[in-house]
Amino acid sequence: MKPDQSHIDRWLLARKQQRSNRTHALLLKGLLEGSVSTLSQAITLIESNTKEDIQIAQQLLSSLPEPKQTAKRIGITGVPGVGKSTFIEQFGMQLIKAGHKVAVLAIDPSSSRTGGSILGDKTRMEQLSMQPNAFIRPTAAGHTLGGVAQYTRQAIALCEAAGFDIILIETVGVGQSETLVHGMVDFFVLLMLAGAGDELQGIKRGIIEMADAIAINKADGENIKRAKIAKVEYDRTLHLYPEKSSSWQPKTAVCSALNNEGIDAIWEIIQEYIQVTKKNGFFNKKRNEQNKFWLIQTIENQI
Ligand code: GDP
Repeated sequence: MKPDQSHIDRWLLARKQQRSNRTHALLLKGLLEGSVSTLSQAITLIESNTKEDIQIAQQLLSSLPEPKQTAKRIGITGVPGVGKSTFIEQFGMQLIKAGHKVAVLAIDPSSSRTGGSILGDKTRMEQLSMQPNAFIRPTAAGHTLGGVAQYTRQAIALCEAAGFDIILIETVGVGQSETLVHGMVDFFVLLMLAGAGDELQGIKRGIIEMADAIAINKADGENIKRAKIAKVEYDRTLHLYPEKSSSWQPKTAVCSALNNEGIDAIWEIIQEYIQVTKKNGFFNKKRNEQNKFWLIQTIENQI
């Protein structure tokens, strides 16, 4: 008897389902073993537009176990050229040396960069990208702000499942993306330059208000003195803002990412923040609020 079309369709569907289950199981296993290539593959799936990929990605995301410990999420922003990638390279290396597993996710909703930029980012953070305990991934290009937000949240969950305990989220563009990142991180670092007015640096007051720490970068050579003056000025400005609900008074620091100076002090500030806000309950309160917000966003996006 010749099989009719409906038999063939059913058979094809069953095969597709089998393949998808197999892929999902392999991905989950690889991820939980901390495989960086599986993590990369899984993130590619959440970025994908094909129905089959989306299905596997959703299956994977919903089967992730609660992470043993959630990663610390740190946002890093500043205008192009301020030294974000140089800073992340040094900061990331320090964290790796201290035994952490570090993931770097970059966000740039306005970007027209394509998959090729993965290579670009690797050369941007040459040393870090070669570390087995580091994972660097630029944002998916061509997504809307809402799309990028959802993608980043999912990428964070995948990185956590793969055992990354520190996630650095870099905003490449200046503008709305800071607000977006602020809504998904525990701590927000703003990198600034001395001598360039806020206007020139394209930094809006709102972004300064969001910062938990301001680091004045390129504090080296002839710039050291100016950087120190800028630090005092920012200290003064920050004191004028109303107290944050975290009760945390934002700190300022000077650093030279190029010479790897002052970066450890910023890590100390972050650790102090975590200690203070865990003790006063703000750390978990903020996480809960963020989770609630993203749950509503995800539902809205799906509707
Ligand atoms: P991004 O666009 O914010 O990621 O900035 P980059 O990290 O690409 O740095 C832009 C330029 O500034 C590069 O030429 C870096 O070498 C340089 N740079 C970064 N950090 C420092 C620093 O601390 N001191 C000095 N003098 N130059 C730096």
